[in-house]
Amino acid sequence: MFESDARRALATAVQPAATAFEDEEPPSQPRRHPQWKDVPHEQWDDWRWQTHNAVRSVRQLRHLLSFTPAELEALGRLEGEYKLAIPPYYFSLIDPRDPNDPIRLQSVPSPLEAENPSGYELDDPLEEDKDSPVPGLTHRYPDRALLITTPNCSMYCRYCTRKRATLTRGGWEGVSADDERMIDYVRSHREIRDVIVSGGDPLTLPVSKLRFYLENLKAIDHVDVIRIGTRVPVTLPQRLYDPELIELLASAEKVYIQTHFNHPREVTPEAVRVCKALLRAGMPINNHSVLLKGVNDDLGTMRSLLRGLLRAKVRPYYLFHCDPVTGAGHFRTSVWKGLEIMEGLRGHMSGIGIPTYVVDSPHGGGKIPMMPNYLVSMSDDAVVLRNYEGLLIRYQAEDKPAANGQPTNTRGVSGLLQGDKTVLIPEQNERMARRKPRVVRDGCGGDSDASDLGGEGNTDGGALRPIIPLPMLNGNGHANGNGNSNGNGHGHGQAASNG
Ligand code: SF4
Repeated sequence: MFESDARRALATAVQPAATAFEDEEPPSQPRRHPQWKDVPHEQWDDWRWQTHNAVRSVRQLRHLLSFTPAELEALGRLEGEYKLAIPPYYFSLIDPRDPNDPIRLQSVPSPLEAENPSGYELDDPLEEDKDSPVPGLTHRYPDRALLITTPNCSMYCRYCTRKRATLTRGGWEGVSADDERMIDYVRSHREIRDVIVSGGDPLTLPVSKLRFYLENLKAIDHVDVIRIGTRVPVTLPQRLYDPELIELLASAEKVYIQTHFNHPREVTPEAVRVCKALLRAGMPINNHSVLLKGVNDDLGTMRSLLRGLLRAKVRPYYLFHCDPVTGAGHFRTSVWKGLEIMEGLRGHMSGIGIPTYVVDSPHGGGKIPMMPNYLVSMSDDAVVLRNYEGLLIRYQAEDKPAANGQPTNTRGVSGLLQGDKTVLIPEQNERMARRKPRVVRDGCGGDSDASDLGGEGNTDGGALRPIIPLPMLNGNGHANGNGNSNGNGHGHGQAASNG
């Protein structure tokens, strides 16, 4: 049987709900894989039931999704090395008909995890262990410390940066055994203002252990912020249906939640419910996404995710380039892809919905922000900036006499630097076309110097007439502030910005 036939045969055995997966704009519909369709609501909503019934073996997987025989064989080999856990709730977000489903890619093991074709991937790509003065604690940035409190997670993300600790069997069992030493280190380093309680996922800890960390960190005066790094709102929101857990988190007063949504389908009503409960209890929520090939490496998916987060009042904080982790190379895409996505965000959607795209650099170099180039050129007097529409704009940051003396006759970007013009506007700029025509009062002489490509006009009495047909663009692509097309392709653009 061909692989595709095998997939089709297996896929037909598992039929998702009829209306599923047509709601990519979050929040998505609550859904269940047919395997769990008869589970009573009280059990489905119980995080203990979800944890107990998590899919943890290839033997279980083969009854729930389609695999080729070769895939099953490879997964069987991987199983001895890496853990697998997918709660039924999160598993139900997978479209079983789609072998490349974005939720499946994140949670179900792939034979590609055995590969490392470039040799660039590492077990500890961020060298966290080298910046670890006591076991379980990383002190890298001057005022922050990271505490690894557990190697356990409710769902094991296949690309996890700390795969060596989390997915790897026997990885860091016992790493946080010396938790007193971690707290002592923070206590004795007064420069540490911000502590990230992470793992693994600290919301998988027993409540008594979580309380230990929170109470001790709260009591340290120089710690201003306690960040809880958790994917529980995404993969096991039922854990946060427990008001006592929310109360415990809120009682530490300094708590911020750092969560990790990657795909719009993860922004479910269940996830939104717990995010709102955390917010109501006074804990801001920031989101980290990881840029993952086949999961969210396209602009439409990313925009949909960010809009869904805003609706849930979760702040998109970072978009991480996927780290070069051993066996996660198939998730990695180019930096250009990340920049292409960022180009489609800034200016196109609300700034509060735009994360900072970062590469977490090798050698423990930390997060380095990446963005498209907006600074085009510069001189002593001004810079030339590019906006999201492609306008090239002269910007004078300081109020001082021009250093360049007499401008030299030039054009284009150089002309902007010389101060010969202040803007170059691309052809068919929709915003300029939207602007109302400038109007002057009949008989007043008017200020018909074409010093505005729009504006609201003076409407306080008198007959008004438009004086500039809009858009004020010449046929070759750029605005002509004198109101006349010069046919040179680069007109004088003062009109747009001096008005
Ligand atoms: S929840 Fe976080 S720590 Fe756990 S596997 Fe996923 S990325 Fe790694």
